[in-house]
Amino acid sequence: MRRKLVAGNWKMNGRMASNASLVASVIQGVAALAGVDVMVAPPAPYLVQVEALLRGTAIGLAAQNVAATADGAYTGEVAAGMLAELGVEAVIVGHSERRSLFGESDALVVAKFGRAQGENLWPVLCVGETLEEREAGHTLQVVARQLQAVIDAWGVAALAQSVLAYEPVWAIGTGHTASPEQAQEVHAGLRALVAGQDAGVAAGLRILYGGSVKAANAASLFAMPDIDGALVGGAALVADEFMAICRAAAD
Ligand code: PEP
Repeated sequence: MRRKLVAGNWKMNGRMASNASLVASVIQGVAALAGVDVMVAPPAPYLVQVEALLRGTAIGLAAQNVAATADGAYTGEVAAGMLAELGVEAVIVGHSERRSLFGESDALVVAKFGRAQGENLWPVLCVGETLEEREAGHTLQVVARQLQAVIDAWGVAALAQSVLAYEPVWAIGTGHTASPEQAQEVHAGLRALVAGQDAGVAAGLRILYGGSVKAANAASLFAMPDIDGALVGGAALVADEFMAICRAAAD
């Protein structure tokens, strides 16, 4: 039985004061829940602040990005070893905003995945299709390509120390959520792809859904057999919404 995970991606939002108040509400809310893992991913400059606020709680800390290289002359980049030293446990790689706005290729995402695991950080690997790709009937082909690139580079066993997130690009930040059935179909396809290479890894792999998840639609998504939680963007900035999503995932 896979334990559900709800991860909040704050994207490029927050300031010291609002972070402190949001984290305080999440700590208080999560303390009353059982059977769900919760994680937050603040912007890089606030990782130190949020790590200190979360210390001693069960809430995990993730980064939103990581360099594809080791330390060195890479102005503006943040190395996986730096994140690990700060107490970060996981890192989002392959988010569609990174792929589309910053030109990140499958090869770059693969490199970031490897760097993260090299420092014992869990990659949260995002895959997802654009609206055009869905309308052309290419959804499964696209997400399979994105996932298989990682498997080809690092082996299927590497997925055992990672989390997968299916995030249809057309559903991110748009208010258009995939229906539970649409999401389940893709989650099942992703799990089947992994199962074809290692059934044990597939059975344990947590596959999150992301794309306009909110309190109102979380429970129906979480009722699907292959949806193991959510990667939440906008709603993760609103304590009441985020906690309602976490409650929907809890026992
Ligand atoms: C995300 O950024 O990963 C995301 C799913 O955003 P939103 O929930 O705002 O659609």
